[in-house]
Amino acid sequence: MGRPVLDVRELTKVYGEGDTEIRALDGVSLAVERGEYVAVMGSSGSGKSTLMNILGCLDVPTTGTYLLDGVDVGSLSDAQLALARNRLIGFVFQAFNLIPRTSAVANVELPLAYSGMRAAERRRRAMFSLDLVGLADRAEHEPSRLSGGQQQRVAVARALVTEPALLLADEPTGNLDSHATEDLLAVFDELNAAGRTIVLITHENEVGARADRLITLFDGRVAGDIRQEPSGRHAAAGV
Ligand code: ADP
Ligand code: MG
Repeated sequence: MGRPVLDVRELTKVYGEGDTEIRALDGVSLAVERGEYVAVMGSSGSGKSTLMNILGCLDVPTTGTYLLDGVDVGSLSDAQLALARNRLIGFVFQAFNLIPRTSAVANVELPLAYSGMRAAERRRRAMFSLDLVGLADRAEHEPSRLSGGQQQRVAVARALVTEPALLLADEPTGNLDSHATEDLLAVFDELNAAGRTIVLITHENEVGARADRLITLFDGRVAGDIRQEPSGRHAAAGV
């Protein structure tokens, strides 16, 4: 099975002190293997975003350990952490965060900007990534000419362009209508079928149902961790 893509043990995250102390995470342990598609669910305030920020190396835990692709994140300097984040993790957020008045393909290229890669190679990889999300024919469109669902798929292409070990998505369908949600989930199905590791945070049941593993958070703890038969997957014709 090899080493897990991520392996966290007994994570805690405490905000504030004394009377105002909040234990946003209260002893979370979990490992995700390469190729898994994991949904993390839980009601508002259960600690989902706190966990996502730690898994994404955007924040550090109060206590506990985090191995990302075998590397102990707690031992890294800020510069090393930034490098690990850029190389190993592709982020997708609820807000698409595309650069306006900039073509889709130029948006997708951005994470490669400081890689020392030649412009032609950056363009080739960005086009490949856009093709993965079914938007190669929209490469020259600026975000304002794309639908919300298309913009989010450009954001997924941007997250994939560095070939990260992990695709990490926090409420990626939160701003999408049901049709665009279905298109995005079909892209995730395809990416996972091609071997991508996905951790997706959501409060929508039908989104969580698409993953093959469902982790439930409650009050900063893992209240459930089950393998499930993904529902609603289909051959993603036209995506
Ligand atoms: P979720 O994403 O599941 O809604 P969060 O991880 O955002 O949950 O929050 C978990 C708990 O931690 C909540 O009680 C929230 O109010 C608290 N919290 C989150 N971020 C902060 C912060 N920066 N300062 C203080 N409390 C926070
Ligand atoms: Mg949240």
